Amino acid sequence: MRNNFVVVKINKQKQKGLFADKDFKKGEVIFSLEGEILKEPTKYTIQLSREKHIDDALGQYLNHSCDPNTYISAGEKAVRALRDISKGEELSFDYNLNEYEIATPFKCRCSSPKCRGEIRGSKYTLPPPC
Ligand SMILES: [Zn+2]
Repeated sequence: MRNNFVVVKINKQKQKGLFADKDFKKGEVIFSLEGEILKEPTKYTIQLSREKHIDDALGQYLNHSCDPNTYISAGEKAVRALRDISKGEELSFDYNLNEYEIATPFKCRCSSPKCRGEIRGSKYTLPPPC
């Protein structure tokens, strides 16, 4: 069993989300990813490498934000804090950073000023002009 300090609750968008159950310091491991490794992405997987997608029971509740508070450290299969997080905050990560091509693209409503709108994966994020 994982020793988790996260809880699944209903968020403001009335969806299930993952919430911090203690304070986390920037860089701290929030939880380790565990589960079946798949070759193809599904709605619930998190991409670890080109042909590795992990189907984690908690990871599926980690919602997307264009201005997230966690990131996936793929090499160590861990979710880490991108900044200090207080107990009770909803956890999120930027799907575009990890996923090359999202299995189920969606319109983002994270309401961040940095919001990119449609989330489809890094394949569709255009590189900056040079
Ligand atoms: Zn957004």
